[in-house]
Amino acid sequence: MRIGVLALQGGVREHVRLLVGLGAQVAELRVPADLEGPDGLRVDGLVLPGGESSTIDRLLRMFGLFDPLRAAIGSGLPTLGTCAGLVLLADRVQDPAPGQRSLGVLDVTVQRNAFGSQVDSAEVDLETADGPVRVAFIRAPRVVAQGPEVEVLARRGEAVVGVRQGSITGVAFHPELTGETRFHRRLCADALGRFEVAAAS
Ligand code: GLN
Repeated sequence: MRIGVLALQGGVREHVRLLVGLGAQVAELRVPADLEGPDGLRVDGLVLPGGESSTIDRLLRMFGLFDPLRAAIGSGLPTLGTCAGLVLLADRVQDPAPGQRSLGVLDVTVQRNAFGSQVDSAEVDLETADGPVRVAFIRAPRVVAQGPEVEVLARRGEAVVGVRQGSITGVAFHPELTGETRFHRRLCADALGRFEVAAAS
């Protein structure tokens, strides 16, 4: 069972470290061949890290990963997007950078930089659907609208900051910076399920 971490820009290392700590095999993804080989997908789960979503978008297109990634996630590859990763997953993005696109695999509208500027970044205790977590917000987006298939996992005050739709989880914050493991554990469990189904068939 292998988890791929998109490694074009942003906070890659913290996700890799956390996943390795959970016992996962990790592959850093930079080019289409890292994601997909002749026999199909090379990973059973995926992390889209935080960083700058418009930069990651540009690099995805430059490296030819945009369409393969969208297809893989759309086909049910378990995926966790954090912060800029949530922006990348979203169907609709408010306040995009000029020309910014998103993968459009998660039926939400996100507003970028919804909690103010870098100086407003903070560690925050949140109640989530499965218990309290302590996480970091860094120029974080929020979900301002979601479709009927989307389950809300976490709010910060009134703002929706964590969602799940099928095998895709998007969070506006950084669990990896505070060592909060539950989102990655859930990803690994989903990925393991997919790996075992594939191995049995
Ligand atoms: N504001 C950034 C963006 O829109 C996200 C910040 C982050 O990932 N920490 O891409």
